[in-house]
Amino acid sequence: MSSPIQSKNKFFQSLKNQNSRTLDKVIHELHDDVFKKIDCLDCANCCKTTGPLWTPKDRYRVAKHLKVKTTEFEKSYLRIDEEGDYVLKQLPCPFLENDNQCGIYNIRPKACAEYPHTNRPKQKQILHLTQINESICPAVESIIYQMESIFSKNAKKGLQRRLKR
Ligand code: SF4
Ligand code: SF4
Repeated sequence: MSSPIQSKNKFFQSLKNQNSRTLDKVIHELHDDVFKKIDCLDCANCCKTTGPLWTPKDRYRVAKHLKVKTTEFEKSYLRIDEEGDYVLKQLPCPFLENDNQCGIYNIRPKACAEYPHTNRPKQKQILHLTQINESICPAVESIIYQMESIFSKNAKKGLQRRLKR
């Protein structure tokens, strides 16, 4: 009998065999449904436990907003990780406010604006990321939970009905 981790890996592996357009359609619909019910301001777990990657444009934009040089901003807030990416030095994110608002919302990093990435095209290419985010983001957890039943063998009819909508 497989462990829960093995079963989960198997499920994500099986998603790679799905048609890419079908997978996008199902995940995007679930994303829209789930985010109608979840308020990120009640959560902020992504800002508390995992930070974004900061692109050069993100670093320039936020440094300019803070009226400091980009190098100064990088020195104060960021470090370079093992993969050579700029990431936050510490978590929770220093821009997260007490009421879970983002203090730099309108100019936040692109990765923050796109998180948890479940409404991006070509979901098949980021399944590894979605699997990681399942343990961080309750919205992703709910999307995956529903996908497990949609894509289970016994639910093929349900999937076909869903795709006809
Ligand atoms: S972890 Fe997910 S649900 Fe929570 S704030 Fe981030 S995006 Fe929203
Ligand atoms: S920049 Fe804003 S959205 Fe991004 S992790 Fe920090 S508080 Fe969250």
